[in-house]
Order: sequence, then structure tokens, then C-alpha cells
Amino acid sequence: MDRQQRLRIAVQKSGRLTDESLDLLHRCGLKFSRGKDQLMCYGENMPLDVLFVRDDDIPDLVQEDVCDLGLVGLNVLEEKRLAMLARGTTPRIEILQKLDFGRCRLSLAVPQDFAFDGLQSIAGKRIATTYPHVLARFLRESGIAAEIVTLSGAVEIAPRLGRADLICDLVSTGSTLTANHLREVAAVLASQVCLVRTPVALPDVKADWVRRLLVRVDGVQQVRESKYIMLHAPRAALPQIAKLLPGSESPTVIPLDGTGDKVAVHAVCRETVFWETLESLKAAGASAILVLPVEKMLA
Ligand code: ATP
Ligand code: ZN
Repeated sequence: MDRQQRLRIAVQKSGRLTDESLDLLHRCGLKFSRGKDQLMCYGENMPLDVLFVRDDDIPDLVQEDVCDLGLVGLNVLEEKRLAMLARGTTPRIEILQKLDFGRCRLSLAVPQDFAFDGLQSIAGKRIATTYPHVLARFLRESGIAAEIVTLSGAVEIAPRLGRADLICDLVSTGSTLTANHLREVAAVLASQVCLVRTPVALPDVKADWVRRLLVRVDGVQQVRESKYIMLHAPRAALPQIAKLLPGSESPTVIPLDGTGDKVAVHAVCRETVFWETLESLKAAGASAILVLPVEKMLA
């Protein structure tokens, strides 16, 4: 494939980010079929090809311009960036957009019987992690001296094996920590997936597609939570109903034929619409309430 004409995006091959990354690309209009164990997929309707790799490899692939774009967690990106700085290399990857998935945090967690009373309690302790550079920066900025034990995985069992006193690892729900008798005590870094791009200037055709892709990504993100609400209400109830519609701009109000002062209200809500919202709308006088998914949105 012609690297001058076609964009290449690196996506995690198989893991927590894979499904949502591919879903995002699909929603942006990209059609491709993925065979089993296929390393690369060719976009059928856009000049955009997908390369499947380990998430840890994505920052280097983008920094070295093997891929034009990448979808990777901020946790991995920051660790690689700080590692490059430590080696004397200048990190030049650019974050184009932070996305609304892959949310987690890198946190310090201590065994249940650890007497934690503020960050000072970890001074002089051994901390196991796969993120030594991010942790080192956090310790430096917090003015704490502690020993970092760098592991390549299975961090959560390090305290039980006697290899560390506490850990610094990724948490989303906290259930893995609980299962390992650990307690989260401080957040080191909040993370989410980032769309990143190569530091190298792109030829016009590719730069143009990156711009179009960004607009679509933006649209997809807005749409995810958005709903189209339709309802009937007495005109007098409009001010209260408008206040109840979550994140909507001025709704469309249409008179209903032969119903006196009743109107139909249509609105795009950009925040999650809960059952409670509908119940409140009904209590305010609304009836015939319909909530529809929004498929695409272009602001
Ligand atoms: P790979 O084989 O690609 O290296 P991995 O084992 O490093 O996979 P996953 O466990 O699939 O990676 O996690 C990928 C990314 O998902 C993480 O780097 C992080 O950005 C994000 N993530 C979200 N929630 C969590 C979580 N609870 N634990 C770990 N990662 C999470
Ligand atoms: Zn990984």
C-alpha cells in the first residue's frame, strides 16, 4: 500500500482497548474485515489501514513514523514519554484527542494490614510496578523517597511474595485489588485512551483525512450519550420541562392540532437520560415520552 496516500493507525491487537477502538473506527465510517490473527487490515472505503499490535508498542511505532496514528492509553504513553526523556530522546508524539474510553487510574495500593496515614507512610518502602517512570515522577513531585521495584507483570501479588511492601498499578473498578487483599490509597495518574499522531509532517491527502477523521471522532463521542427526546406537554409546563432535559439546547416546540394548549417538544439531550429523568418529566406534565438513539451528529 502506498504510504504517501494511505494512513496507518496502530490499535491494540487483543486486550481491553481492542473492541472499543475498532468500534470507534467503525462508527467513523471505516469498513474493513479482520481475519483471524491478521496483523493488518485494509480499509475498504477510506485510505486508512489498521495495524494490530501490543499496546506497549504503539507509542514507539508512532514516534518512529511506522504508523501515522495510534490509539493508546495515557498510562502507556506517559511511561514511554518519560522513558524516552530518561534515555535522552525527545518524545515528539502529539496527542490529537483524548477519548471517552479505557478509563482507569494508576494508583498506589497497600496490603490490608499496612498502616497507611498519608503519603509519608510509604517513605523508605518498596513499591512494585510496571510503570517505574511515572511512579518516579510522582514520588519526586511528592517529595517522597522510596524504592521502586520494576516488574513486567503480576504486580498485585508482589506484596504477598515478599518482593514489595506496596504496589502501584492500574485500577478501574478495584475488584482485582480487593481480591488480592489490597487497598487503594492514592491516585498517581488518571488515564484514558488517546488518539496520537506521528511527529512527521503528513502529505496533504493524509493530513486532510486526519482532519476529517477528527471531526468524525468528535461526532461519535458526542453521540454516544446523546438521545433524541420527543414528548407532549401543556404549554404552561414548558419552562419546567426545559430545565429537566439533560444537556439540551433550546428544544423545538410544535403545536398539536386540536388539543388546545398542548405542544410536542423535541430535543437532543447530550447527557445520559435516566429513568428518573423520564419520571420527573412525567410528573411535570409530559406524556407520550419517547427516547430515541442518535446515530450520527455533525455540529
Ligand atoms: P498487551 O498484550 O497489548 O500488552 P496488556 O495486558 O498490556 O495487553 P490490557 O490489560 O488489555 O493490556 O490493558 C490495556 C490498557 O487498557 C491499559 O494500558 C489501560 O490503558 C487500559 N485499562 C483500562 N482499565 C484497566 C484496568 N482495570 N487494568 C488494566 N488496564 C486498564
Ligand atoms: Zn501492554
